[in-house]
Amino acid sequence: MKRYVNMMEAIVEEELAVLGDSLGCCMCPQCKSDIIAYALNHLPPRYVATQAGGAISKADSSRIQHVTDVRTAVVQAAQMVRENPRH
Ligand SMILES: [Zn+2]
Repeated sequence: MKRYVNMMEAIVEEELAVLGDSLGCCMCPQCKSDIIAYALNHLPPRYVATQAGGAISKADSSRIQHVTDVRTAVVQAAQMVRENPRH
């Protein structure tokens, strides 16, 4: 089992779920994946070692959430996908 994970993936997914319809973007699986991939390419990866069972410590997740403007990246990604949807 992999013992490390890029936490930014989960943070971007969560942010996308929070913003949801307010992005005015299609939310089909293809567009969602495109938004997440685009946002991740514009954010620094945040690798952390996982604990047993793949858990990430709460301290790690809240610290990282505050250092990067994830929301801006997701909004920009949604804009890009909205203009060039691939579905
Ligand atoms: Zn779509």
